[in-house]
Amino acid sequence: MKLTIIGTGYVGLVTGTCFAEAGHHVICVDKDAGKIKLLQAGGMPIYEPGLKELVDVNVAAGRLSFSNSTQEGVEKSDVIFIAVPTPAQMDGSVDLSFIEAVSREIAGAMTSYKIVVDKSTVPVKTGDKVAETIKRYCKAKVEFDVVSNPEFLREGFAVGDFMRPDRVVVGVRSQRPVAAMKEIYAPYNAPIIVTDINSAELIKHAANSFLALKISYINAISVICEASGANVQEVANGMGMDTRIGRKFLDASLGFGGSCFPKDLSAFIQISDQLGYNFGLLKEVQRINAEQMERFVKKIIETLWVLKNKTIGVLGLAFKQNTDDVRMSPAIDLCLRLQKEGAVLRVHDPRAMEKAKSVLKEVVFVDDMNEVAEGCDALVIATEWPEFKRLDLERVRKALTHPILFDGRNLFDVEEMERLGFIYKSIGR
Ligand code: NAD
Repeated sequence: MKLTIIGTGYVGLVTGTCFAEAGHHVICVDKDAGKIKLLQAGGMPIYEPGLKELVDVNVAAGRLSFSNSTQEGVEKSDVIFIAVPTPAQMDGSVDLSFIEAVSREIAGAMTSYKIVVDKSTVPVKTGDKVAETIKRYCKAKVEFDVVSNPEFLREGFAVGDFMRPDRVVVGVRSQRPVAAMKEIYAPYNAPIIVTDINSAELIKHAANSFLALKISYINAISVICEASGANVQEVANGMGMDTRIGRKFLDASLGFGGSCFPKDLSAFIQISDQLGYNFGLLKEVQRINAEQMERFVKKIIETLWVLKNKTIGVLGLAFKQNTDDVRMSPAIDLCLRLQKEGAVLRVHDPRAMEKAKSVLKEVVFVDDMNEVAEGCDALVIATEWPEFKRLDLERVRKALTHPILFDGRNLFDVEEMERLGFIYKSIGR
């Protein structure tokens, strides 16, 4: 099929590329001229494992192209996907101005029947607003359908998640676009759940809030573990082997972040409020998450006492492993907190250093993870990159002024670290 994706970011570029890989003809549109120019020249604006290779193959095969023009994208395709940002506003509600703007642009360019599919994460009932807006601004007065198709991919695993989804959710107002949506997703052999639009929109917020809840739950358990001398990893393993619970999202840490969970949680709390329900449970999820970071900072301060002019090494800046994304990253938040206390920072991330440079100032960026500890009073692990498990611990211990390691991701075994001579402080153990 001929598909256009408007918004070529983490979701749009992966979606467009994976659709092309499945045999569709795809135009990825973005208003960021620099991004499109880079992609047209064979460059990559983001790091996502396996994505560059797929982009190259599909561009070469003539199935994937990039454009600055929504007009062109709408004219040349039957189905238009919207994958633009839906950021949080100051009060936690969703800024829908990008969705509104794209709806108007699509409407202005439509001259024949189109299916307009929202892939961005939006509040329930946004589909109605998109439909109203398109109707209002479409001069040609052609027919169209609006579909909600929320995206569940995880950054860092996005290609695999897209190619092998647990399920595909398709929210519709009429049956007319269902066949086309099924055809688009047929190559992925995944269950397709067809719902009304409101339910589809709600599924995304409900799912993300539940996952955040799971993380806050295990983080709360980690506090009980620390107070009682239990080990949160053993508790998580014991809980997680119960198939009703599952082991995923039961890793205690310094808290969740990223461009989705924090904003989707606050959005869902706001939406619920507007609908007359005080979602206190989710407010508690937010509170536990914020407190988890406070506890971690407190642990560092209690151990090092005064941070002013102490040098601290920080491993990890991305909000999680396998990505260069630093939006709402707990690691960046931690760095800013340590700087506020007067600490001098030496930092490293396998992929996110370039993006971190725009948000972190006056830190030393170190290229080799094993060199970060040089002359530091302590080392902190803030992101769960698998390569950090392969740190040269002997070298790190010798490089530190004092062998103190704070592990915000529980990457190492407590007894082994103590045997190696570290003062090792992790989460819930
Ligand atoms: P992003 O910021 O990486 O990309 C969005 C892109 O849209 C940018 O390149 C921007 O320039 C472009 N854009 C904005 N307005 C435009 C317009 N009028 N015309 C053309 N392009 C325009 O955002 P993202 O992380 O890909 O997220 C997009 C949506 O998907 C959000 O609603 C997000 O909540 C949701 N989502 C994200 C993830 C994720 O892991 N990042 C997962 C699932 C869902």
